[in-house]
Amino acid sequence: MPENTPQQDLRQNRQNAPRVRFAPSPTGPLHIGGIRTALFNYLFARKNNGTFILRIEDTDRQRYIPGTEEYIIESLRWCGIEIDEGVPAGGPYAPYRQSERKDIYRRYAMELINSGHSYIAFDRPEELDKLRKEKEQEGKVFQYDHTVREGLNNSLNLSSTEVEKMLAGNVPHVIRFRMPENREIVINDIIRGEVRVNTSTLDDKVLFKADGMPTYHLANVTDDYLMKITHVIRGEEWLPSLPLHVLLYEAFGWSDTMPEFAHLPLLLKPGGQGKLSKRDGDKLGFPVFPLDWKDPSTGEISSGYRESGYLPEAFINLLALLGWNPGTDQEIFTMEELIRNFSLERVHHSGARFDPEKARWFNHQYLIAEDDSRLAEDLRMIILEKGFDADTEKLKRICSLVKERTAFVHEIWEQASFFFERPQSYDEKVIMKKWKESTPELLANIARLLEKTEPFDAERLGFEVKSYLEKEGIGTGNAMIPLRLALVGEGKGPDLFSILELLGREESIARIKLATERIKA
Ligand code: GLU
Repeated sequence: MPENTPQQDLRQNRQNAPRVRFAPSPTGPLHIGGIRTALFNYLFARKNNGTFILRIEDTDRQRYIPGTEEYIIESLRWCGIEIDEGVPAGGPYAPYRQSERKDIYRRYAMELINSGHSYIAFDRPEELDKLRKEKEQEGKVFQYDHTVREGLNNSLNLSSTEVEKMLAGNVPHVIRFRMPENREIVINDIIRGEVRVNTSTLDDKVLFKADGMPTYHLANVTDDYLMKITHVIRGEEWLPSLPLHVLLYEAFGWSDTMPEFAHLPLLLKPGGQGKLSKRDGDKLGFPVFPLDWKDPSTGEISSGYRESGYLPEAFINLLALLGWNPGTDQEIFTMEELIRNFSLERVHHSGARFDPEKARWFNHQYLIAEDDSRLAEDLRMIILEKGFDADTEKLKRICSLVKERTAFVHEIWEQASFFFERPQSYDEKVIMKKWKESTPELLANIARLLEKTEPFDAERLGFEVKSYLEKEGIGTGNAMIPLRLALVGEGKGPDLFSILELLGREESIARIKLATERIKA
């Protein structure tokens, strides 16, 4: 066997027990794209006996929204994504909330200044705004980079005594990365292959802000290093940050242990036109959040998959297939099967279009396969709210009878509400077509038959009613449709004899009587 290159060895070692992290910022509820990122990290970790870490990246205090950390944790729990390490589980690299790690970042930022990779910039925001506007007037974009840094108010141009004095006087400042000029950065992304960027197009990003907090870039890279992350699996929107991250690893001298990168494709709107964004929530007629979210400042509620009636297993399944392809025709996967089959190599790089009809189809598949006892319990919650109740056996029978026609438990209620309340009205079109002058008498005869049918179950009832119709030479449609109309109020629905059985003798006969009194042919 040919020997591995050191790079291949490193790769293999990492595959043995990878450490991955999901690193959301608590700046709002997680969008389904965020949950998909968490899921792909989780699947990758479980497949390779690795560790799945939840790190909360809360250094942007201005965009911080209370309640979102709890929302993220609850969303992962609902989806069955177990956190091995991090918030809230803890672990050997705690704390895992970046706001609690401020001192660490300052130390590393200072290290970069000392090694000449960073500098302190004292430019006031209004000065930079002025420069921005001037450039705009020339039809150009201002960038704090190698072309302008020498003329600006920073430690590269000021004497060390001036810098000391300003720092001692608490003059607000930021720390910027000194982006090297004209270097070709080549990175191998697991999903996208080779990514090349020339550093001359990049600006001197802020690493440490005037408020004493690091920016995303510094905190993210430092923590990935300190927490021994082996694979960074995240959304495509972070791809432009990748060259800076690679240069940060290099500047710190951490290139040997730099993680591998995999940037996941965007989730696109159903029409394929553009990215599915948080703002699309409910506008497009389907949820974009895993759970309901109530905006703490406006009180506005955006709907979630859980509250819309999705089963977590269905939600996970549909998310997994947004961007990942198992290489077979199989579409229904349990979490175990996803774990067994998942690989980053089978994630595609073109955007994954969200299809709400397909999402519904997935839920339907899981609903019909679902144990009737679990569905019965969910249905019980709905019927209790409506002021009804029924025993578990009856609820189970109802669920098994109508679930084929539904995708959600609340649709089971819509299909089955007639079991609990008598019809308030009768479908006019069905009356016009099928309610004849002779119908009341026919139904009265059927009612008499029901009086004496023993046992009162679907099988026996079917036999008795059909034999009677045959004997009398009455077409089934002419009898069954009016009978259904009397019991249900509509011309369509599940098996009629099961309906009779579940309604019971007394109620069925009462409904027939009521209908013949109310409906005028
Ligand atoms: N905090 C970033 C986010 O909100 C993390 C991006 C990354 O995974 O590097 O998505």
